[in-house]
Amino acid sequence: MNTNILEREVQYLKGVGPKRADAWADAHGVRTVHDMLHFYPRRYLDRSTTTGVGDLHEGEAATVMGTVRACDVVPGKSNKRFELILEDAEGQRMKGVWFQGLWWIRNTFEVGERVALHGTVQKYGRWFSMTHPDFDRLSDEAAALDTGRIVALYPGGQAMEAVGLTSRSIRRIIYRFFQEHGLKLGEQLPDWMTEQYGLMEGRVALRAIHFPKSQDERAQAVQRLKFEELFYIQLLLAITRHERQDIAGPTFDPPGPLTTQFATEVLPFELTDAQKRAVREIVADTQTGIQMNRLVQGDVGSGKTVVAVLAILQAYDSGYQSAFMAPTEILAEQHAASLGEYLEPLDLQPTLLTGSQSKTEREAALESVAQGETPVAVGTHALIQEAVEFDRLGLAVVDEQHRFGVMQRAEMFEKGDRPHMLLMTATPIPRSLAMTLYGDLDVSQIDEMPAGRKPVTTVMRREKQRGDVYAFIRERLQAGEQAYVVYPLVEESEKLDLKDAESGYATLQAQFPDFTVGLVHGRMGADDKDATMRAFKTGEIDILVSTTVIEVGVDVPGATVMLIEHAERFGLSQLHQLRGRVGRSDKQSYCILMAGYKQSAEAKQRLAAMTRTTDGFEISEEDLRIRGAGDFFGTRQSGMPELQLADITEDTDVLETARNAATALITRDPELSDDAHIALRTYFDKYYAGQSMGFLRVG
Ligand code: ADP
Ligand code: MG
Repeated sequence: MNTNILEREVQYLKGVGPKRADAWADAHGVRTVHDMLHFYPRRYLDRSTTTGVGDLHEGEAATVMGTVRACDVVPGKSNKRFELILEDAEGQRMKGVWFQGLWWIRNTFEVGERVALHGTVQKYGRWFSMTHPDFDRLSDEAAALDTGRIVALYPGGQAMEAVGLTSRSIRRIIYRFFQEHGLKLGEQLPDWMTEQYGLMEGRVALRAIHFPKSQDERAQAVQRLKFEELFYIQLLLAITRHERQDIAGPTFDPPGPLTTQFATEVLPFELTDAQKRAVREIVADTQTGIQMNRLVQGDVGSGKTVVAVLAILQAYDSGYQSAFMAPTEILAEQHAASLGEYLEPLDLQPTLLTGSQSKTEREAALESVAQGETPVAVGTHALIQEAVEFDRLGLAVVDEQHRFGVMQRAEMFEKGDRPHMLLMTATPIPRSLAMTLYGDLDVSQIDEMPAGRKPVTTVMRREKQRGDVYAFIRERLQAGEQAYVVYPLVEESEKLDLKDAESGYATLQAQFPDFTVGLVHGRMGADDKDATMRAFKTGEIDILVSTTVIEVGVDVPGATVMLIEHAERFGLSQLHQLRGRVGRSDKQSYCILMAGYKQSAEAKQRLAAMTRTTDGFEISEEDLRIRGAGDFFGTRQSGMPELQLADITEDTDVLETARNAATALITRDPELSDDAHIALRTYFDKYYAGQSMGFLRVG
């Protein structure tokens, strides 16, 4: 297949030239033929997608096609406007109205020409109208449409129009390209794959998305192109999974004496079914001789730590040590403390490594790890990976690692012996997204809470209820409990943000003179922050005011109230994470969302979801639905390319098919792996560098 043709710059195509090429690149990133072919229409016009004036309904979106009968600037009550009278095929009329850009719009239309208006229908008196409708001039589409064709309309904009890149000229350019070069476009998927999954041939799909012969053909083209978007990601993941099958890991024994003793004598409660399942999966993984790569996913408080402890004991029973890595020092300390509690009855001790230890302490700690005395070393990722030599490392537990993408994950512990990897995250994500973000991992979901937990009571309050809110907090404080008060991070202005939190801090001090109020914010040094967090943990501080820097996972069981100011400004997952800071004891906890009166539709949905459910998985599904997958983690950071057509939440069938196809390809042709992996990495590297990806032949 001829890749050159796809990498050719559009400026050399007939009908383009440097000026248009510049505008196209600036406005829509179209530089190469590949970009152009994937510059998809934003809308299609045909008889079935347009509405006659007689069938319009107020408040609904519609597309009306017709002839311009009159158009001019008319004086209005307060300012001038531009009005266009459109007459449809039945002779019925409606108006398009513009209040802005009059000088430009008045030169746009001509009486007698064919135009399509797209917008929300309003009704004034007997007139249907659209304000600032999207429009397309159909000068030469008219004939085509009259003969029943489907016409593609492209994203435009003033800069595009200025150089004559209208839907019409774009169609021409692409049409000519297909006339001249269409046959040079190869099929990049193997035949068996297109056959087995009923996919339209690649070049047919590309042609059909620009020039569909029917709505059915268009739908098939979309299906094929969606498949492709998802397939390459799935292939990268499948290859990673496949290659891992050859990576040896330590072989653990079946659960031995310590594990059994712990489970039967030490553990003060029975594991939930979900915990048992996770443990079984880990036990199975670690006995195969292949490196384990397992993600344990469970909401805050679902009991992931115990699962990790059992894995650590199984390793130790088998003669291996473990590393336990946390994102921050304070979390490392907290983990060391809770591991210590679990292990003590077995006469075992975790070894904590921190940056603040004295030289002698540090050396003693490192020594005990190197000698193989300690079952588990606990510290930050950086510290463990840089400084620590293990006698016999068999298991690495990584807490809260969702900040890493697929690529970075592959590189952890690549040097030296490969310990089993047990990743833990409290950020539940929907299955469809997990398949993509964590598709290279095996996943254990802890989707069940230990019995007897009291869900956090969540309410929304308004400014006028502030007095009641404070009275409620006072009650809780008097009962010996503690409260968080959180202010949002205003990204554009850290200063403003701080001002908010600082004035809140002052207010609370004035309101609660008999209690101790503390403040943490992003501009504090790590030591000061740590000291304040610690004082809150020990109960010296009653109310902790903070910007959103409260460390994920810091455990303050005495805190039962979470007051979130300007709750409408937070993302849903973030609100849920914040709520997870309370409800960590057998006391009833409360999350109070202080919401402003002005709320976007999305903010309303987020707050409604928070008061409706405390289930992290439900929250994450909702979050994904509200925000769309692209925004969920910030795509680039999450290691997932932006998708043009596919929607991870909607297109789960295609996603599943793409995943199956990728797995099937690797199974059929394991040889593919090396070359394809390099090719795929290059492909994604290009993507991350913001370059055109080009086609990739994988079969
Ligand atoms: P996570 O790390 O998932 O947030 P933890 O492992 O810290 O959760 O567990 C939260 C609390 O629940 C701990 O106090 C732990 O002892 C307790 N716990 C864990 N599993 C169970 C269980 N099956 N039954 C009762 N309590 C449990
Ligand atoms: Mg935890």
